[in-house]
Amino acid sequence: MTSTTVTPIGHWADGAPFAGASDRAADVTNPATGRVTGHVALASEADAQHVIAAAARAARDWRETSLARRTQVMFAFRELLNSRKEELAEIITAEHGKVHSDALGEIARGQEVVEFACGISHLLKGGHSAGASTGVDVHSTRQPLGVVGIISPFNFPAMVPMWFFPVAIASGNTVVLKPSEKDPSAALWLAELWKEAGLPDGVFNVLQGDKVAVDALLQSPEVAAISFVGSTPIAEYVYEQASRAGKRVQALGGAKNHMVVLPDADLDLAADAAVNAGYGSAGERCMAISVLVAVEPVADDLVARIADRTRTLVIGDGRSGQDSGGEERESDMGPLVTRAHRDRVAGFVQSGQQAGAKLVVDGREVEARGDRDGFWLGPTLFDHVTPEMEIYTEEIFGPVLSVVRVGSYDEALALVNSNQYGNGTAIFTNDGGAARRFENEVEVGMIGVNVPIPVPVSYYSFGGWKRSLFGDTHAHGTEGVHFFTRGKVVTSRWINPAARPEGGLELGFPRND
Ligand code: NAD
Repeated sequence: MTSTTVTPIGHWADGAPFAGASDRAADVTNPATGRVTGHVALASEADAQHVIAAAARAARDWRETSLARRTQVMFAFRELLNSRKEELAEIITAEHGKVHSDALGEIARGQEVVEFACGISHLLKGGHSAGASTGVDVHSTRQPLGVVGIISPFNFPAMVPMWFFPVAIASGNTVVLKPSEKDPSAALWLAELWKEAGLPDGVFNVLQGDKVAVDALLQSPEVAAISFVGSTPIAEYVYEQASRAGKRVQALGGAKNHMVVLPDADLDLAADAAVNAGYGSAGERCMAISVLVAVEPVADDLVARIADRTRTLVIGDGRSGQDSGGEERESDMGPLVTRAHRDRVAGFVQSGQQAGAKLVVDGREVEARGDRDGFWLGPTLFDHVTPEMEIYTEEIFGPVLSVVRVGSYDEALALVNSNQYGNGTAIFTNDGGAARRFENEVEVGMIGVNVPIPVPVSYYSFGGWKRSLFGDTHAHGTEGVHFFTRGKVVTSRWINPAARPEGGLELGFPRND
């Protein structure tokens, strides 16, 4: 067995690494080999206060830094990220397990938000009304909040933080990012990149840890707002705690995304989409399709096409490599993030079988191209799933696709709308009228029409409905700018010495005339 170096992974504060004084740490593993590659510090309360204080000290100067300077730094960061993204992709693959091309895809979607934030000057413009009343002008302005906390999940260690921090920083806030303890290194790489781009020390900080670190952010009077992404129970907890502490909060939670296939759909397109969106990133995407709602009579045909496609997929180490014929061939799907998560997902496969769903493809039998200690589970396909089964009600967050058969569009719509989650959904059809009706009637935040993972582009906002989002503001786009700034309206009167004398006593409510 080859020995692996175990790297200590710490925090980042005041523009430099910060080890902290906590004696708690967690293992970070390479999911493709099962080996421990790092020990990430789990912050103590005092460590958290140290990092938050760095952000608070930097906040005053950063909010006074000109828009021109702030956007110059943003452009520099964008250029560095674009030219060095391969390094970041390798870090993501090594700790998360997703394949290299998918890691690059996640970076590209995050970079889009950086590019959006480069235009922040336009988005921060206020309004001005000259002569709103006699001799009175009114203008509006938006100002930063101060220190903002970003708490992110394991499944997008680069993209999810980038949904928030470019907009927060460009708007004049300072940031404490608390990444997932499962893949904490991407955040540190991003911190170093910010420094190279010329961001002043203390504007972007990284706090590693678990509940202790999260609670410190939620309770700190220095932290004005929280952007959270993760599972629904934790999102709800974060929303409640942060609101109680008087903070602005957006908490994005879990999902169970349905893809509805109508009888007139192109079944090859639908089968390709189901496989890509069901098994890409091993199903560990908040916008993954986990339920396929087949409107009869398409189910038999669709299930057969999906099953055929799963057999062509290469499951293995996410780093690019060569196949047995010496051809360069990247795996299509990597391992799951941890052994415990792989075992949990395998437990759901057993539960589905016991509940009577038809197991068409069993991912537990996968022959992965990689280390036998990797956390492998292949694509799994269930047919004849019913809404009472645990594999339907729970968010599995793995490569398990459940087919529910229904008799009509109305039944499909009722199923989607009765689900507790409302993150993303898709409809596959060639009937524009049906698609338009679905768009209007479905209670979900992000909808795809013949598009399986409808993640909005950066200048629109990302967010779900129901128990997929607590709070009312979605991520990035203009909603993101709104979240990270507060509005002020200024009403001013300047005396015109050439006009009649102003002033005098008048105790009535001011009138506009
Ligand atoms: P998670 O809820 O376990 O962790 C998210 C963050 O919360 C991490 O930083 C973690 O350290 C912290 N955390 C965990 N337990 C905590 C506790 N008891 N108290 C305080 N903080 C705690 O989620 P995960 O497993 O890292 O990520 C997967 C989940 O995230 C899935 O449910 C997925 O749907 C969801 N997700 C949602 C979106 C979205 O846009 N809605 C995007 C990505 C992921």
